[in-house]
Amino acid sequence: MSQKIIVTGGAGYIGSHTCVALIESGFDVVVFDNLSNSQIDSLDGVARITGTRPEFINVDCTDITALRSAFATHRDAVGVIHFAAFKAVGESVSNPLLYYRNNLGGLINVLDLMREFDVPNIVFSSSATVYGVPEKLPVTEQTPLQPATSPYGATKVMGENIIRDTVRAYPQISATLLRYFNPIGAHPSAEIGELPNGIPNNLMPYITQTAAGIREYLNVFGDDYDTPDGFCVRDYIDINDLARAHVAALRHMLSGATGVGVFNLGTGQGTSVMELIDAFRDATGVDLPYRIAPRRAGDVPAIWANCDLASRVLNWRAVVPLNETLASAWRWQKHVSGIK
Ligand code: NAD
Ligand code: UDP
Repeated sequence: MSQKIIVTGGAGYIGSHTCVALIESGFDVVVFDNLSNSQIDSLDGVARITGTRPEFINVDCTDITALRSAFATHRDAVGVIHFAAFKAVGESVSNPLLYYRNNLGGLINVLDLMREFDVPNIVFSSSATVYGVPEKLPVTEQTPLQPATSPYGATKVMGENIIRDTVRAYPQISATLLRYFNPIGAHPSAEIGELPNGIPNNLMPYITQTAAGIREYLNVFGDDYDTPDGFCVRDYIDINDLARAHVAALRHMLSGATGVGVFNLGTGQGTSVMELIDAFRDATGVDLPYRIAPRRAGDVPAIWANCDLASRVLNWRAVVPLNETLASAWRWQKHVSGIK
């Protein structure tokens, strides 16, 4: 019998791709999601790709009573992947309590119910944001964390600490904290992808929406950073690679790893905003209209990951080339926008 995994936030961007990776690896997947930032159609996409539709329970992780009933039905799960959270940095500044309540309240409920129902493993979505402006590049898991610059970032630092304390007190629970760098792209089938609400905050969906003519031009935030070409540098990781890392993390815990594991998930390569625009043109043939705009408040000039630990311990590394990732992002945008 296949092992069951609860995926909170499984209808979202990273969650839906991870559902695909889990099903393709033989796991039985149950999604807990309140669809606050996603659509149920993503699970139809998962079904078209894999031939299996994950079971779906519409539940808010901050509602302990409803979440308890969902857990009770799936007490045989061997792990939880906890994606459910809000992620808009700017909104977290204007509405911090919403973010603390949703991101931390949800996590605390999940951990409490894992304890109550003896579900032994959790994978937590953390972020490179915990490193702030790092002194040395690339960042390893040993790089000191910096005080968070937004309530969203604070929920990731606090979430990691809540999990560490919980595992210390209840060693029957094992945890993996995955620090994502910049996930981009879509499933190559274009059946699932990123669906931002309104004007995208993130670079990749802004690029594809500009290419589709939904936005007039891309604002490039800052050209005078102390980086090789003056533009901000990030580590853009293919969403399908990222999804597979969750399977590797679960397998590691299921084969006996205890305590708390922490892993950077990136490619190990830094790419500047301008390099990404150029690579997008090379991959898709679309020459993007852009304008240089002032720096965006709070942006880190440059960050990319050292991912040796994930390679050594989880036997995982990013393999999808950037041009394929950019082509998949564009294919998905064309699918969403009805462009032939
Ligand atoms: P997303 O918004 O697409 O997915 C999150 C999902 O969680 C959505 O389906 C939403 O409906 C659901 N959700 C939110 N609050 C919920 C609640 N209280 N109860 C039930 N469901 C709830 O976001 P994503 O990009 O897939 O991100 C997934 C996780 O990864 C988040 O924790 C996010 O903070 C983290 N992360 C994302 C990025 C990124 O660039 N996308 C980077 C680092 C970390
Ligand atoms: N960026 C940009 N224009 C946009 C959105 C983002 O120039 O419309 C830049 C941003 O300044 C940063 C990089 O793209 O240097 C990645 O930003 P994103 O918000 O996608 O991710 P972050 O690393 O900030 O979480």
